[in-house]
Amino acid sequence: MTQKVDTKFKREPKRGSHDFKLACDMLDAGKICHVGFTLDEQPYVVPMAYARMGDQLLIHGSIASRLVKNLAAGLRCCVTVTHFDGLVYARSTFNSSMNYRSVMVFGVAHVISDTDEKRRCIQALVDHLMPGRRADLRMSTIKELNATSMLALPIETFSTKCRTGPPSDSKSDMNARVWAGVVPLRLNAGEPIDAPDMIPGIKRPDYL
Ligand SMILES: Cc1cc2nc3c(=O)[nH]c(=O)nc-3n(C[C@H](O)[C@H](O)[C@H](O)COP(=O)(O)OP(=O)(O)OC[C@H]3O[C@@H](n4cnc5c(N)ncnc54)[C@H](O)[C@@H]3O)c2cc1C
Repeated sequence: MTQKVDTKFKREPKRGSHDFKLACDMLDAGKICHVGFTLDEQPYVVPMAYARMGDQLLIHGSIASRLVKNLAAGLRCCVTVTHFDGLVYARSTFNSSMNYRSVMVFGVAHVISDTDEKRRCIQALVDHLMPGRRADLRMSTIKELNATSMLALPIETFSTKCRTGPPSDSKSDMNARVWAGVVPLRLNAGEPIDAPDMIPGIKRPDYL
C-alpha cells in the first residue's frame, strides 16, 4: 500500500524547504540520526549512525536487530537528523527558542545484499563518520559482512526546517531590561584518548 506522507509545513512554513541540496548539506553535517517507526501501534525512535551515499541514506545494524529486521521487511520509517545550533534568549519564555537545522526523510528502506555494494556502503559510512580512517583498517571479513545488515533509504520524500538569527520578541516586551540574544552551540571533538592496550609507539594520525 502506498502511503501519502504529509511534508507540507503548517507551522512556521518560512523555515521549511524541500530543497534536495539543502537536505544533503544537513545530512552530511551530521553523524547521528533518529529512526522512527511503529510496531503494533507503539512508536519507537531509535538513535543510529548514518551516512549519505548519493540520493540514499544508509543505516546499518546487526542482523538480529528488531529495527533492522522490520525495516528490511518493508516497515515504513522516518529518519530525522537534528543540528542544535544555538539557544535563543528572548525577552519572554514564550518567545525563547532554539536555532536549529533539521531534516526528515520518509519512506521504505531496502536491504543491500550484494557483497561489493555492501562493502561500498560500509566504506561510505566509515568515510562519513571517521574521515581518513578507512585506509588504516583491514577489510571487513565475510563473517562480519554477514552479521551486518545494510539498509538504504531513498532521499525522495523529505523536508528540512531551519531557524537562524536573533530572538523575535513581541513589541510589548521590547523595553524589558533583560539580556536578549543567542548563545551559539556546536559539537566539538575533544583531545583523543589512547586505548590503554595499544601497541607502544603508535602515533596519533592526523585525521583524529
Ligand atoms: C532542535 C529543535 C527544537 C525544537 N523545539 C520545538 C519546541 O520546543 N516546540 C515546538 O513546537 N517545536 C519545536 N521545534 C519545531 C518542531 O520540530 C516542529 O517543526 C514544530 O513543532 C511543528 O510540528 P508540526 O508537527 O505541527 O508541524 P507541521 O508543520 O504540521 O509538519 C508538517 C510536515 O512538515 C515537516 N516538518 C515539520 N517539522 C520539521 C522539522 N523540524 N524538520 C524537518 N521537517 C519538518 C514534516 O515533513 C512534517 O510532516 C523544534 C525543532 C528543532 C529542530
